Amino acid sequence: MNADLSPSTYAVVAGRPERTEGAPVNPPVVLSSTYVGRGEVQPGRHVYTRLGTETWEPFEEALAGLERASEPALVFASGMAAVSAALDLTRPGSRLVVPRHAYHATLVAAHRLAGRSAVEVVEVDIADTAAVRAAITGGPTSLVWVETPTNPMLEVADIREVSAAAHAAGALVAVDNTFATPLAQRPLELGADVVVHSVSKYLSGHSDLILGAVVTSSRELYDAVRATRDIVGGIAGPWETWLALRGLRTLALRVERSQANAAELARRLADHPDVVAVGHPSLPSHPQHELAGAQMEGYGSILTLRPRGGQAGADALAGAVRLWVPATSLGGVESSLERRRRFASEAPTVPVDLLRLSVGIEDVEDLWADLALGLAAAARD
Ligand SMILES: *Cc1c(COP(=O)(O)O)cnc(C)c1O
Repeated sequence: MNADLSPSTYAVVAGRPERTEGAPVNPPVVLSSTYVGRGEVQPGRHVYTRLGTETWEPFEEALAGLERASEPALVFASGMAAVSAALDLTRPGSRLVVPRHAYHATLVAAHRLAGRSAVEVVEVDIADTAAVRAAITGGPTSLVWVETPTNPMLEVADIREVSAAAHAAGALVAVDNTFATPLAQRPLELGADVVVHSVSKYLSGHSDLILGAVVTSSRELYDAVRATRDIVGGIAGPWETWLALRGLRTLALRVERSQANAAELARRLADHPDVVAVGHPSLPSHPQHELAGAQMEGYGSILTLRPRGGQAGADALAGAVRLWVPATSLGGVESSLERRRRFASEAPTVPVDLLRLSVGIEDVEDLWADLALGLAAAARD
């Protein structure tokens, strides 16, 4: 299906069965571990489901189109299986540059890799392009990992500048595009080599499955990541993949609504007397507000909030809200929030009273009223 359609249209039409008389509108779920075949294996024909199955292909085509990739996406059993396969592109004996604030398990995976294969992990402030450049040129670097906006601090990296610096040094760039979604940000168009998604979040959108994906326009990188998937075997289940494609159909509506809700809540929170700090790239006070405006379409649906009352205040808020779900994860239709430092593993540079808010698609007035109750509870605490 052609790539000059607008992304919101493309998400609806991509990966449908051929339009013939009596054909189903949706692709079927095929439950088979193996395929009939004898003699020499024919290229492009299915053999064994760990190596490929038709239930993955419509989703892989649709996600690749949304990211404007020339190769199909590669679906994985989880975001972390996809992250691990992409981190595997790091060459032994080289440097892996990562953001100091990033999805926690990604940083753990990077350091585990370092422990096994003489990889040197260098953590940087990914929004500080000069610092990223210095880290890249400070040693032989093979991979630069980018999250933007970062979890949970919402720092915004300059994908174009970081990619140029990495390529000048012979390094690859992988961008975890989970927070932004391809509707708001397309890293491959800005020069990145690889995009990674936790499909568990916005792409599927209903907090009902775990899935991941890697996307690239390089045949060579596609083959390398695919070889990892074939051999390591962290493969996606057919039902999850089918549900993710169903979720993708409404991605544009969900992202539009949740981004608008997030920007409106950020604006109101910035003026609220019981708020110590609010973070969202839409706010002129955000350090990379202008970069985010140029690089993204919309500013994402995640906010950070530090209420009055410190850590106890933040916990009181999480306990007082009735609509916002106190839970980890993000990117569902329902709004949720979480004090990140409740995890001992969270970076110590993340403030103890910082709540990460994943804004959903509810009516913004209901979300605001509930949050106002939470803020009052925090201020009383
Ligand atoms: C959730 C998440 C992951 C990990 O994905 P899983 O599907 O939970 O394995 C990676 N990166 C980011 C930014 C995430 O939010």
